[in-house]
Amino acid sequence: MSKQMTETQVAIIGGGITGATLARELSKYKVDVCVLEKESACGFGVTKVCQGLVHGGIAYLASRIVKFHGNMDFMEYLKQPGNLKEKLGNLGREDYFNLAPVLGLEIHRPGRLMLAENQEDLDMVNLIKEMADFQGIQGIEVLDRKALEEREPLVNEKYIGGLYDPNEAVILPTDWTFAMADHAQQNGVHIFKETIVEGIEDKKSHYVIKTNRGRVKAEYVVNAAGLYADEIAGMVDAADFEVTGWKAQLLILENRDFVHHVMCLVPHPQRGRLLIPTTHNSIVVAHSFEPMTHKGDKSTTKEKLDELITWPIEMFPDISRKHLISSFSGYLMYNTKKPSDHLLESPKRGFINAVVGAPGLGPAPAMAREIVNMLEHQGLELTARSDFNPYLTREPRFIDLPSDEKKDRIEAEAGYGHMVCRCMHVSEQEVRAAVRAGAKTVDEVKFRTLAGMGRCQGGFCTSRVIQIMAEELQVSPIEITKRGGGSYILKGKTKSFWEERPGEGAR
Ligand SMILES: Cc1cc2nc3c(=O)[nH]c(=O)nc-3n(C[C@H](O)[C@H](O)[C@H](O)COP(=O)(O)OP(=O)(O)OC[C@H]3O[C@@H](n4cnc5c(N)ncnc54)[C@H](O)[C@@H]3O)c2cc1C
Repeated sequence: MSKQMTETQVAIIGGGITGATLARELSKYKVDVCVLEKESACGFGVTKVCQGLVHGGIAYLASRIVKFHGNMDFMEYLKQPGNLKEKLGNLGREDYFNLAPVLGLEIHRPGRLMLAENQEDLDMVNLIKEMADFQGIQGIEVLDRKALEEREPLVNEKYIGGLYDPNEAVILPTDWTFAMADHAQQNGVHIFKETIVEGIEDKKSHYVIKTNRGRVKAEYVVNAAGLYADEIAGMVDAADFEVTGWKAQLLILENRDFVHHVMCLVPHPQRGRLLIPTTHNSIVVAHSFEPMTHKGDKSTTKEKLDELITWPIEMFPDISRKHLISSFSGYLMYNTKKPSDHLLESPKRGFINAVVGAPGLGPAPAMAREIVNMLEHQGLELTARSDFNPYLTREPRFIDLPSDEKKDRIEAEAGYGHMVCRCMHVSEQEVRAAVRAGAKTVDEVKFRTLAGMGRCQGGFCTSRVIQIMAEELQVSPIEITKRGGGSYILKGKTKSFWEERPGEGAR
């Protein structure tokens, strides 16, 4: 970004899944676009903690049941037409499946399995099946105990049946966000990271955005700042809403062939718990619902960990505490203007609020198209680019290559033969490639390569990753951070801690 004034047609504030997917969608047209992202990488806001479900089939129905407050007839409530969230969710899901082969990304379709424990649950199963048929959802099966065991052999004996939905899919949200941003960039979009929007001036014919790295003049502004979208809207006096949320604590467990489907209990009003088999051989246990204290709170507590760990153990008694890898927390966002829906509006000419509520990952591609339509209606000229490259240039994971190709690669580049992360089988060369592709923090390397996402959570590989990063970036290892800003990992050399040497001593 220039120190003077960067000029663009569309400025997208926020490079989460919403902003990055929009940037990619706009890159199909002859439009100058930039993304302003405050973190060191795209996707490091709420998207980073997302559990990665691309809902299909009965998920939205189940979520409606959980949210039922008994204020109207239950069946009438279930039959109500879907809101924007559900509409975009169903459309966006198709996009993910279409995009996966073109962008070289993974999407798994484990399906969803609901567990029934008693007759009341079985009645609910039959009701959901009836509603699914009413909505035309394909492939739903009511299961007895035998059919349940065939699908999940290790499931607790106490479950007497359930419901199977083949439509639920899982992705790695950060991987997809990086890919959306990389693909947009490959097609001409400017992505400015570590760029914090601090103020916006409405000049009537355009906007001037003040950031920590200079100013941006934009004809159109899309506010996709997630949890902070109310603050951004407030900068142009367009915040008649707040963004708040439920704090969710989650666990990650090793998946030693325990769980094969997205698992949940038969939903009942005010009850929901999920086990998600991720794309990289772990299980996410989701999640607690707690009131938000403040937006920066990322803490986890022993009390919640103790409560959450009982859920997978109850569903699969072979799981135990020793399979626990990590815990984290995030915010299930909602806006106070439309608490149960996304807020997609243009309060001012050329200014769009794209305030996504949870779930917002699944709907993102359809949401992007919706925003492009809004921009066009406001006068943005959209001429398709003949040189748009629909494919993303990306190296496959080394471990997934056939043996002869692995051998060729190691012969050409010895770094492929040095395993840095043994849990996830990530080679030195892949870490180097991630840094050369722009990763500047350990977390970005982690999410680009999977190094550090396995059982040991980086216990063994982080020091090696730091060393490689320091070599590639030509800085001292103590300058390498976990996620940008002041998140330094090293304090100094152990042997020179008390005798500081110029350029390499303690900070
Ligand atoms: C625990 C949990 C589980 C979830 N699971 C699912 C799921 O399975 N499926 C699903 O569909 N959804 C799920 N969601 C919801 C989903 O994660 C969010 O809806 C989605 O990630 C929102 O994306 P976003 O791009 O709108 O927001 P964000 O990812 O938060 O992106 C906003 C970006 O704006 C940036 N920003 C903020 N302020 C500024 C500023 N001043 N200047 C510059 N940049 C700024 C932030 O750094 C951030 O990167 C889950 C959410 C949580 C918390």
